[in-house]
Amino acid sequence: MTLDPVQLAAELIRCPSVTPTDAGALDVLQQALEGLGFTCTRLPFEENGTAPVDNLYARLGDSAPNLCFAGHTDVVPAGAADDWQVDPFAGMQQDGFLWGRGAADMKGAIAAFVSAVSAHLESQESFGGSISMLITGDEEGPSINGTRKMLDWLASRGEIIDDCVVGEPTNPEQLGDMIKIGRRGSVNGIVTVNGTQGHVAYPHLAANPVPQLAAMMNHLSCTSLDEGTEHFQPSNLEVTSFDVGNATTNVIPPQATARFNIRYNDSWQADTISAWVRAQLDESAGPSGYQLELAHTGDCFLTPPNDFVESLSMAVQSVTGRQPELSTSGGTSDARFIKDAARVVEFGLVGKTMHQVDERVRLDDIRQLAQIYTRLLTSYFS
Ligand SMILES: [Zn+2]
Repeated sequence: MTLDPVQLAAELIRCPSVTPTDAGALDVLQQALEGLGFTCTRLPFEENGTAPVDNLYARLGDSAPNLCFAGHTDVVPAGAADDWQVDPFAGMQQDGFLWGRGAADMKGAIAAFVSAVSAHLESQESFGGSISMLITGDEEGPSINGTRKMLDWLASRGEIIDDCVVGEPTNPEQLGDMIKIGRRGSVNGIVTVNGTQGHVAYPHLAANPVPQLAAMMNHLSCTSLDEGTEHFQPSNLEVTSFDVGNATTNVIPPQATARFNIRYNDSWQADTISAWVRAQLDESAGPSGYQLELAHTGDCFLTPPNDFVESLSMAVQSVTGRQPELSTSGGTSDARFIKDAARVVEFGLVGKTMHQVDERVRLDDIRQLAQIYTRLLTSYFS
């Protein structure tokens, strides 16, 4: 019998799995998957100084190709529970919506995929290939003990994923709006300029780092990175903070620090974007120089439109009547890790209320998403 995606999504929401807590969410999922014949492996990981996290890899079948659904059962905190119209962890249905933390991001999509597998198995008991689920409990947190380590584990066993759909809520307004075929890369930077502290009335005895750093950040911020590429918007740098921490009015401060973030497209890679930043700072730095720290949080990736993207797109169109935009906009996701192992795209529910108070998704959307995933499975294995 086809599994009801709304029931399963509600059951998952009732597990308050705020990162790094699992709260039984993976057990609920594992039980459903074992019922469909999946072989389930729990992959708990921990690292010094980080909270241990539980993860689940499940596979049905042992032949190629392996189509994988990747996602996460962890959720962000509910925030002020009193601000919610309903209990954020009750999995309530009301006014045609399923309410609760994780409904959109992304327990609803996980449930829709499990339901799709059950429908697929009903129509064809044997199919050439495998279906797998790569589900982490560490996506909303530091993402250290989740997808990345799971992929290492898969690689160490020679386990291959051919194509992957990530169930992040990719649709801005309506189901069918948008498939993500890539994401921009992201890097955070901290620039520090050291000067010499002194009295404002005797500047010749001091060296003021503030105008120096201001000039450097202005130069960084005003220099364009590129004009955009076929599938990406222009890369962008935002200065996010400028810190001197000077409480006085008559002291030239000894140090000034600024922070920035760059979202970059596929004309750059981690090393070339780092080199660009250094070149701009070298050009605008003063005699006292600067220190730079860069932290790369995810490289850019693109899955150029191919047969897999096309069949997902067709599935979306046939169920919703909408032609999805193939987009590379928005923040990073675990697809940044998966891109090295498989062709990866992202399609899930409507993201309007994700991470907000009163997170909710339309019941019809969950059911339609299950139909979309079912069509994707059918075309993938035909
Ligand atoms: Zn998410």
